[in-house]
Amino acid sequence: MNTAQPRHHAPSAAPSATAQALRIDADRLWNSLMSLAEIGATPKGGVARLTLTELDRQGRERVGGWLREAGCTLQVDAIGNVYAIRPDRHGRTDQPAVAVGSHIDTQPNGGKFDGNYGVLAGLEVLRTLNDHQVSTERPFAVVIWTNEEGSRFTPVMMGSGVYAGAVTLEHCLAQRDRDGISVAEALATIGYAGTATPPRFAAYVEPHIEQGPILERENITIGAVESALGQRWFDITVTGQDAHAGPTPIEMRRDALLAASRLVIEVRRIAAEYPDYARGTVGQMQVIPNSRNVIPGKVVFTVDLRSASEDTLLAMAEDLRACAARVAGQDEVAIEVDEVVHFPPCAFDPELVAAIENGARQAGYSVRRIASGAGHDAVYVARTCPSAMIFVPCEGGISHNEIENATPSDLAAGCQVLLDTVLPRLNPA
Ligand SMILES: [Zn+2]
Repeated sequence: MNTAQPRHHAPSAAPSATAQALRIDADRLWNSLMSLAEIGATPKGGVARLTLTELDRQGRERVGGWLREAGCTLQVDAIGNVYAIRPDRHGRTDQPAVAVGSHIDTQPNGGKFDGNYGVLAGLEVLRTLNDHQVSTERPFAVVIWTNEEGSRFTPVMMGSGVYAGAVTLEHCLAQRDRDGISVAEALATIGYAGTATPPRFAAYVEPHIEQGPILERENITIGAVESALGQRWFDITVTGQDAHAGPTPIEMRRDALLAASRLVIEVRRIAAEYPDYARGTVGQMQVIPNSRNVIPGKVVFTVDLRSASEDTLLAMAEDLRACAARVAGQDEVAIEVDEVVHFPPCAFDPELVAAIENGARQAGYSVRRIASGAGHDAVYVARTCPSAMIFVPCEGGISHNEIENATPSDLAAGCQVLLDTVLPRLNPA
């Protein structure tokens, strides 16, 4: 990519010539990331900008201002998704756009890059197109999806879920946070209860930090994401009998925490035994009454199972239920297993994945195919149009943490691959 001569692009420049010469501005991308990270900045260098809060409003205003300055028309739909659309060469915004997007809400102890990178990489592509006065056959869109994180309101990936028809608007608007504020109220308060009809896309690409350790460990710059792991989430309630820790003999106890602990071990075994990137996690546990000298009578905990194969996920869940039944008998407790979330695995568009992989190679970056272990807006959007993701390394594989970090050069590389991927689709042959 260093042999191309700088050249002026007439609006009608051939797509191939344009693709070879356009370079994104790494410093500008980095500066926009750092500027957005000021809103909700935490003392340890992270960001706390929960969805639909005043800080989220400020973030949306800052990014929205940049998108408007870059010549976009902004539309907001009923769940607060923001669609910034750069008109095609005929001035149209109502044709299916090639879209880039992600989210700008964060976890309470979030970082500067998760989500924000995808939106601001889209902005950088937009600015690069403008710098070179590139006009396109299709509109280009940058999307900010509402409440990807699911930290304040469930479900996660709310905006893209509504967009894809995976969850209903009514259901989502009625969800409440811990203070009893509904999504509908929060949207109205920050001025993002919109009325726009969500646009349809010709293609969607979402750049994101990997949030895992693989690219960094293998010293690879670009992950061409070919799939996202399916997920099955369970709430498990174990009911035994609370009793005094002193007088109750061991053999007469119905200890809910003991039974729960056996299941925690089983979840780990299941994750280790099954194929297709199997994962299993117990992340949350509530012990009742949670008193030093009382045998726990009730324990409620979560199980998160993942795999790239739907068949494997099914087998893992059956294994879990069989273990629960066995442990219930063994420890004389009742165990209820409720499935609360089921995302099937997602295969991204093979052509887009190949384009990302080839584009990275042509630009001189190391690249590998990879599966996403986390859920992303792209997983829902993939139900509506050809979609894929571009991963870049993050330090130590750590995210959802204030120390989340990524290098300017890796972020720039991902953004360049993004530009090279979307440009031929903006100007299809
Ligand atoms: Zn994210």
